[in-house]
Amino acid sequence: MEVVPTKTHIALLASPGIGHLIPVLELGRRFAVQHHFLVTIFVVTTDASAAQSQLPHYSSYRDLLNIVFLPPVDVSDLATGSMAILSQLVLLMRRAMPHIRAEIAKLKPCPSALIVDLFGTEAFEIANDFSMLKYMFHTTNAWFLALTLYYPHHNETDKHDHVYLHKPLNIPGCTPLEYEGTFDLDTRPDDRVLHEDYAKMGLDMAKVDGILVNTWEGLEPRTLKALRDPNLMGRFSSVPVHPVGPLIRPVQPVENLVCRSKVLDWLDSQPAGSVLYVSFGSGGTLSANQLTELAWGLELSGQRFVWVVRPPVESTAFGSYFRQKERTEDGTPDYLPDGFVSRTREVGLVVEMWAPQTEVLAHESVGAFLSHCGWNSTLESVVNGVPMICWPLYAEQGMNAAMLSGHLGIATRLKEVGPGTVVGREEIEKMIRRLMEKDEEPGKLVRANVLELERQAEAALAKGGSSHGSLERVAKECKTGLTGLRERAYGA
Ligand code: UDP
Repeated sequence: MEVVPTKTHIALLASPGIGHLIPVLELGRRFAVQHHFLVTIFVVTTDASAAQSQLPHYSSYRDLLNIVFLPPVDVSDLATGSMAILSQLVLLMRRAMPHIRAEIAKLKPCPSALIVDLFGTEAFEIANDFSMLKYMFHTTNAWFLALTLYYPHHNETDKHDHVYLHKPLNIPGCTPLEYEGTFDLDTRPDDRVLHEDYAKMGLDMAKVDGILVNTWEGLEPRTLKALRDPNLMGRFSSVPVHPVGPLIRPVQPVENLVCRSKVLDWLDSQPAGSVLYVSFGSGGTLSANQLTELAWGLELSGQRFVWVVRPPVESTAFGSYFRQKERTEDGTPDYLPDGFVSRTREVGLVVEMWAPQTEVLAHESVGAFLSHCGWNSTLESVVNGVPMICWPLYAEQGMNAAMLSGHLGIATRLKEVGPGTVVGREEIEKMIRRLMEKDEEPGKLVRANVLELERQAEAALAKGGSSHGSLERVAKECKTGLTGLRERAYGA
């Protein structure tokens, strides 16, 4: 009788937010398709319906993956309103731990590895109890990973000089972090809980079997080298770093789309490369004043656009992160300038709340992306060769913007963007024209640079490419239960 080898089973854990769920689903899909693993994905959410409502868009995952939505976590007893988004996520994940433990205990065969994202590091205790390998999937870039690993080791003088004197923050062997692109953390210097949570993440991550990062060797060679150098970042963590990106949700074939979106139909009738796509991710929001200025800036630029709009929120830039409102069908939203929709009808399309972004960015009519620079959005733009205008809002988006508009040279940047500031319509108009008008120099340069990165990204993921190879190495470890680190520890 032929013995059928048991499939390797791995478990992944996604923290709340579509921006975390999408790369985790995509990583799971790669293990299932390329390595024929059984893959279980646990999804932590505050509102299961919000995450589940997005899944029809990702129907290709459903047949391949065992997706388990954990019971929504309730934090209504806590005053989360004034908390940093990082602390809210840490808290939500902490409260989900008993459910995660109970669900892992039910799995047969027990997974050989647990892969968590940045906010799931407390689940490593569970992985230890079930003798699973422990991996972190850093869903953003290697530079932010380096900051996180180094954060617990920064000396107080450096932190003070960065926060109060706005001096660059050094990260050994990596590009220093200029204050202009600083991480949320340094704009909340007195938030003790936030700083402790973040430092703990850095320490927890340094104890895993491997760190997967949603980047590729050619995108961040300097940072990846520093992370592996025992005299630089390697002093703080000897954990192997595996760049496996860019992992993004693939464009759905038309027959898989639940309904062909109005946006895609509209894009079909626009000239190639003529449309600016404007979106602030899954949760980004602007103030009422800022929305008005952006509307005027778009209108004055005279360029074609698709704009994903959300109602204004005054007190926070992540107003829609934990909850999605339903999209309304018609009408001009009352928070945009009177008559905006009718005045721009010939050149623009306003979409409320949500658009099929990967399909939009892959459409040949899209010529540029005004983005909050979330890492998924960034990668989606790069793999489609679409240059960007950076408008960072929160979390590590300022770092991403610094990288994109800095040495990568694939984006232009609105200078005045920052907490509490309102970017004026003239600045917005000017920036859009500079990128969209074909004869403008900055536009030409960033377009050429992003096309080169698109080519590199494709090569990294192809068979024989660096990211393909990294994933193969991790898959082998999950199959054998042996990692480079453990072999060294056992003297093998
Ligand atoms: N997204 C989308 N439609 C929207 C807004 C966002 O499909 O209208 C997707 C987008 O394609 C990306 C994710 O949601 O994959 C947002 O992730 P990102 O890291 O860019 O930002 P976050 O929402 O986490 O701030």
